[in-house]
Amino acid sequence: MTTDFLIVGGGITGMWVAHYLIQYQQNCLLIDEGLPNTASRIASGVMNPITGKYLIKTWRADDFFPHAQQAYTQLCQQLSLPHTTRPINIVWLIKQQQQWQEMQQLSQKETIAPWIHQLQQNNYLPQLQQHYGHIAINAYFIELHKLIPAFHQYLAQKNAILYQKMNYQDCQIHTNGITWGDIKAKHVIFCDGIAALQNPYFQHLPLVPLKGERLLVQLPDLPNITNIIKASGLSIVPHTTPDIYWVGSNYQHWNNNPTPTTEQYQKFTQTLDQLLHIPYQVLDHQAAIRPAVLHRYPFVGKHPQYPQLSVLNGMGTKGTTLAPFFAQQLIQHLLYQHPIDPEVSIDQYKKN
Ligand SMILES: Cc1cc2nc3c(=O)[nH]c(=O)nc-3n(C[C@H](O)[C@H](O)[C@H](O)COP(=O)(O)OP(=O)(O)OC[C@H]3O[C@@H](n4cnc5c(N)ncnc54)[C@H](O)[C@@H]3O)c2cc1C
Repeated sequence: MTTDFLIVGGGITGMWVAHYLIQYQQNCLLIDEGLPNTASRIASGVMNPITGKYLIKTWRADDFFPHAQQAYTQLCQQLSLPHTTRPINIVWLIKQQQQWQEMQQLSQKETIAPWIHQLQQNNYLPQLQQHYGHIAINAYFIELHKLIPAFHQYLAQKNAILYQKMNYQDCQIHTNGITWGDIKAKHVIFCDGIAALQNPYFQHLPLVPLKGERLLVQLPDLPNITNIIKASGLSIVPHTTPDIYWVGSNYQHWNNNPTPTTEQYQKFTQTLDQLLHIPYQVLDHQAAIRPAVLHRYPFVGKHPQYPQLSVLNGMGTKGTTLAPFFAQQLIQHLLYQHPIDPEVSIDQYKKN
């Protein structure tokens, strides 16, 4: 089999790379190992423009958000997936009066005011632990657990996906491309997430494992909540209507073991016990490793010695927002020599 572009990895990043290649009428084949517990398969799919207790606007939110919203809307329309992507409010419960006053001041900052939906001094929901008020942030939400499988199915209809693991040592590089088994490609784009720690071609990039766990919880007495509730370090995100919610997450740097832990399960359930005045049932518990970078910018670009190889990785905690923007940038670079933003270009990392 021959292809122009071989994409290694079928998470959010590989999906957007394949999407833009197809949009620019290129021939591509995506391979994916098909593991159930990868970052993209357990992520909640939230694009949050404001983070932290100091209400900091995330990196280049004004560039990435409009691009991502437009891209997800268009892709979901193309795949006939209505309601899979939509604006959403993150309702952040505020427990104490002092924190409320701080939020009031912070929310007036010019840079973040447009992203604040409302600030109210009331109990948001009676089913939740008593709180002083809440702040609602304008965010965006993508049901990745529906979108990624639907995109894989779309690729399958085009004979453009294979569920196989690439053993990096079996990839042979030639002047005009690569061969891997009986597949010949002019170019390979690695979107292999945390597996890139074993990828011999991009060992010089400072990728860091960042483990996260999540629960799926059934809340029969909390049906059809359409907002995300954030309290005590947890997010409760609508998952499967009417009453199944995604609950998470935590952040453990340098942990590359994707096994869910009893310790984190207990932390989640202790917090839920305090937060909820209603019964709940845990349906599922998973962990995955985010491909992170300490300075938090992703990696984009061609290999310094082998221009037949490229990488798009390091999405960290923000793959949903960053992947569409930088996938398009990488593809425009490969096809039309458009520049790559210097802050993400892998040219800044020297290969020994
Ligand atoms: C609990 C949790 C919650 C999260 N919530 C959010 C959120 O709300 N919003 C957000 O923006 N981000 C969130 N993230 C982060 C987000 O999941 C990541 O940024 C994103 O998924 C990274 O996508 P990726 O495609 O680069 O990597 P991955 O999702 O890791 O995908 C890589 C793919 O490549 C495949 N692969 C690797 N090596 C090979 C090989 N050699 N051969 C074949 N296939 C291979 C893997 O099997 C995998 O399918 C969350 C992450 C976690 C863990």
